[in-house]
Amino acid sequence: MKELNISISIRICQEEELSADDRELLEAARRTTYHSYAPYSHFSVGAAARLVNGVLITGSNQENAAYPSGLCAERTTLFYANSQYPDQAVDTLAIAARNESGEFLVKPIPPCGACRQVMLETEQRFRHPMRILLFGTEGIYEIKGAGSLLPLSFDSSAMK
Ligand SMILES: [Zn+2]
Repeated sequence: MKELNISISIRICQEEELSADDRELLEAARRTTYHSYAPYSHFSVGAAARLVNGVLITGSNQENAAYPSGLCAERTTLFYANSQYPDQAVDTLAIAARNESGEFLVKPIPPCGACRQVMLETEQRFRHPMRILLFGTEGIYEIKGAGSLLPLSFDSSAMK
């Protein structure tokens, strides 16, 4: 019997350690939390993607009384980006969230599993690593690629 250990590398930063572009992206993600439609969870998420052509796309979570009809901020953002710019890879995706008291989360916001799956496919589709910045007031997690967030991931290569 063998054991397989998979590890990921996360850089924990303070905002002032990041580039001006990254700070702008985080600010856009925070600002977009105020565009969230979250009457059920009262959990407001914002995401901001910088495409390789420099365009910045934002999106927020959009809920619905029929719960599964809603969509997370990350997928709202990526699907919009891919719809509008189908030939542009996403270079960096920043995510921020506020709780029902309206405060930004202290710990970096972790994307849900479904969003990780979409992030992975977006990364693979363009053959370009998607850096991810997860905002928390105590620090920011920088992850070098979406694949790191989904070990043992299912993708199209598994179907061959
Ligand atoms: Zn999600």
